[in-house]
Amino acid sequence: MPRYQKELGRSSPLKAVLPGFRSRAGQLRLAEEVGTTIERGGVLVAEAATGIGKSLAYLVPAAMSGQRVVISTATKALQGQLLTEDLPLARTATGLQITAAVVKGRSNYVCRVQRAFAHQRVPEEYSGQLGRLEDWLVRTREGDRDELPFVPSEVVWRELSVGPDRCRGARCAERDGCYAELARERATGCEIVLVNHSLYLADLALRSARGGEPVILPEHDVLIIDEAHTFEQIAAESLGARVSAPALSRFARDIDTACTAAIKLPPTAELALLQMHGDRLFNALPEGRRVRLDETRLRLLPLDAADAMRDALGRIAERIRDFSDETEALARQAERQALALEAILSPDHEETVVWSERDTRGGVELRAAPTAVGPLLREHLWDKLHAAVLVSATLADGDGMTGICRRLGADAATTHVEDSPFDIESNARLYVPDDIVGGGKADPVVVADRIGELIEAAGGRALVLFPSLNRLQRAHDLLRDRLTMPVLCQGEASRDVLLERFRDDETSVLFASMTFWQGVDIPGRSLELVILESLPFAVPDDPLIAAKSERAERDGGNGFRDVQLPHAALLLKQGFGRLLRSESDRGVVAVLDARLVTKGYGSFLRGSLPNVPVIGSVDEVRTFLAREGD
Ligand code: SF4
Repeated sequence: MPRYQKELGRSSPLKAVLPGFRSRAGQLRLAEEVGTTIERGGVLVAEAATGIGKSLAYLVPAAMSGQRVVISTATKALQGQLLTEDLPLARTATGLQITAAVVKGRSNYVCRVQRAFAHQRVPEEYSGQLGRLEDWLVRTREGDRDELPFVPSEVVWRELSVGPDRCRGARCAERDGCYAELARERATGCEIVLVNHSLYLADLALRSARGGEPVILPEHDVLIIDEAHTFEQIAAESLGARVSAPALSRFARDIDTACTAAIKLPPTAELALLQMHGDRLFNALPEGRRVRLDETRLRLLPLDAADAMRDALGRIAERIRDFSDETEALARQAERQALALEAILSPDHEETVVWSERDTRGGVELRAAPTAVGPLLREHLWDKLHAAVLVSATLADGDGMTGICRRLGADAATTHVEDSPFDIESNARLYVPDDIVGGGKADPVVVADRIGELIEAAGGRALVLFPSLNRLQRAHDLLRDRLTMPVLCQGEASRDVLLERFRDDETSVLFASMTFWQGVDIPGRSLELVILESLPFAVPDDPLIAAKSERAERDGGNGFRDVQLPHAALLLKQGFGRLLRSESDRGVVAVLDARLVTKGYGSFLRGSLPNVPVIGSVDEVRTFLAREGD
């Protein structure tokens, strides 16, 4: 009998609370794997397709293990779902009073010290919003920004909260009533602690630096990482370093304000030097959204400006350290910024990739990240924990789970794959044209025309995914007057609003780019056609991809085969995964790139997808999607 038969099998207590509850064999198998891993120790890397019910498959064994389990997710949406929907079900299934808490980064909570200064620091035009926040602060017990009935302006929230850099820590006079500290204390008494990947990794870095002593999260021996397909990328970003021009300007303003509050003179000369040399350094960075700074490019930067910045930061720290608790925290921040500058501008080029990045508002920053996170994760995470479970709907590529395990440094992990319980072979088709070849060579007019034909064949109900906003805009311009159904376009409204409109109007079409490639969950007739405008290869000169490819070549591998292809395979799988979200869903995924069937690597890419019949004409798409009564 399966180990969790009583909780998740046919006679599960869930029958009483979930109308239409059915025991799922895949869920029982996955739960058993998770339970065994938690009991015996080790690392489990598991892929569980949509419809398996993976959350309960790990929550039930976690709750019954009697150990504290930290569950890390990439998105707030999943964290919310676990807390409000899945944990109550796990309690019903197990009959246990499972205690759980969410731990968030410090800047999500009101800081009681900052609050005392908010009226002086928040600009006059925001006083109305500050008033509403004050009303809420009288009532709130948790001081958590997500409890607010409105979204506060960043300008206001910044003056009410602090990040770890500016927190006064153990010396804070308000520590006993501190909302962030109370949230952490509550988590200490809980069996399940929910956290996001960035905070988990920030905690890991601090813990490792302090010899394993708990810092943000309570002690734990078991970690479950959901949405594990994002963990490698988030680890690279979290374990790297960054220094930005806007952050340095904010830092200078904070020092000014803190010195004034302490009735001390700010270090004006040093701040002016920091600003002047910062301008020299940041103005010398190349144009472009993400540009890699290899050894040659780094040498062309005014590195003497970076030296002068580090020097100014050191002197600022010395000058302000003893003025007040607030300036002491800022002095520590100055020292960390100086260290980050050094890490970025004097990197080990074999292990680290450095790049500059510009946001849409013109803010520029310098960044560095490890080219391989696997060795770091193995040393600081997998080797230290008793058990770790990594789970996601998209981990395996055409070669199975070997690639993801290697990249995460978990080569010795146990792997497990649960395929979709849906009848994908009957309910889905893969459309690949033989006359459109992507890779930047396709005629945009021909591509837009085919997108139009496919959308018309489906009667709307389509999500069209583009690799870039430029290509999205071009196709949208070409099709705007032709399509008769409502066309929604990324950028017109927030992601949530667009998805709601798309879901509510069954015939609408949504044009979107990479940010919609994952996490879109629209079951039913609103989404019957997913069009991928091309194969999702990363831009080859993307700093991280280029550095990883070079590293693969140095290690005797091949950059395209070992880095580009697996990356594209997982994205393709995520795009495909938008289509069938429930048992009764039916639809077509169209990939407008013949290379998927003509190139040798096409079979590797197709190997990452469910095994569905491939069709090549728009008529076949129309026929497949036609339903009785249409
Ligand atoms: S410990 Fe003090 S400074 Fe830090 S967040 Fe809490 S109240 Fe603010």
